[in-house]
Amino acid sequence: MILPKSQRLTPEQLAEVTEIVESFGCHIQQIVGAVRTIYAIVGDERDELMINRIEGLSYIERVDKIQSPFKLMDRRSDLSTHRISLGGVTLGEELFVIAGQCTIDPKNPDLFYETAHAVKEAGAHVLRGGVWKPRTNPYSFQGDVKSLEILMEAHRQTGLPVDAEVMDEHQLKLALDAGVHMLQVGARNALNYSLLRAIGRAVAERDTVVLLKRSMHMGPLNEFISAAEYIAAFGNPSVILCPRGTAPAPDGYRNLPDESITPLLKERTWAPVVVDPSHSVGKAAYVPACALAAVAYGADGLCIESHVQPSKGMGDDPKQAITPAQLAETISQAKQIWALRRPVKVA
Ligand code: PEP
Ligand code: MN
Repeated sequence: MILPKSQRLTPEQLAEVTEIVESFGCHIQQIVGAVRTIYAIVGDERDELMINRIEGLSYIERVDKIQSPFKLMDRRSDLSTHRISLGGVTLGEELFVIAGQCTIDPKNPDLFYETAHAVKEAGAHVLRGGVWKPRTNPYSFQGDVKSLEILMEAHRQTGLPVDAEVMDEHQLKLALDAGVHMLQVGARNALNYSLLRAIGRAVAERDTVVLLKRSMHMGPLNEFISAAEYIAAFGNPSVILCPRGTAPAPDGYRNLPDESITPLLKERTWAPVVVDPSHSVGKAAYVPACALAAVAYGADGLCIESHVQPSKGMGDDPKQAITPAQLAETISQAKQIWALRRPVKVA
């Protein structure tokens, strides 16, 4: 990681540095942060001669050799001061809430608009709405591109930024062209490196935020953080980690709740953690408790499925969506836990 003395390199300086690293078979990836730009060496960065040549340049402060498997998302990285803001909230400063339907019903847009206004009223900062759905059963409703227009209309009506899952490059392009503010990578695609790379490339130097779910098969934490690194490595570090429960589930829950990994993630990465209790426990009755536990564990936010009439919903909504009234109550209680949070000193 190359840190210039100034906030960014001039084009001439960048050309000089690029020539050096390319002669060692590496290339430079610019990482544009809020205040300064830093320059990742992509490739084998351990060549001492290459480092010495770069550090010998008068305008370079230093080259950090990074042992961590994730150069950018590591807690000790220079990007650790990067802050993600969306929907009027800077993550880490107050409880951040994404809420809305699992799935938008393209035949009933009014229901989604009603949900959108109601979750805003309940205190959500970002509106979620599934356009394309990764369904385990190939015969279940797979989503509909028409719902993208409904999602954007809900954004226009409420002013809330919107979040949708994309599963391939075509959907990614459609979502970005439509102006979706937050791209969700679902649990099933959490380790789809070509999709992660494509998202990284597509969001480079844009302010689109990526919500990266944890893979459902209980991968190691470094695997989860490395998936975020894929996106950041292409030039947009605005990645949020989202534990959402893993397999196998204890009897009665949809997945094994994994909000308890939050302190472990925070020890290794600066990335904000937004827990999804809905897919974790998978039943509306259990969602509030899981949401509150997540906040107690130190989560920066929550992603909750909520619907004005869950019984009329599609996808997961009939089973796991809570009503906007329940959402408002959960947010209110979660804020009380947030206010109580103090690091306890352990010897
Ligand atoms: C969803 O958010 O509706 C969803 C499908 O989530 P996950 O990828 O966590 O299963
Ligand atoms: Mn869902």
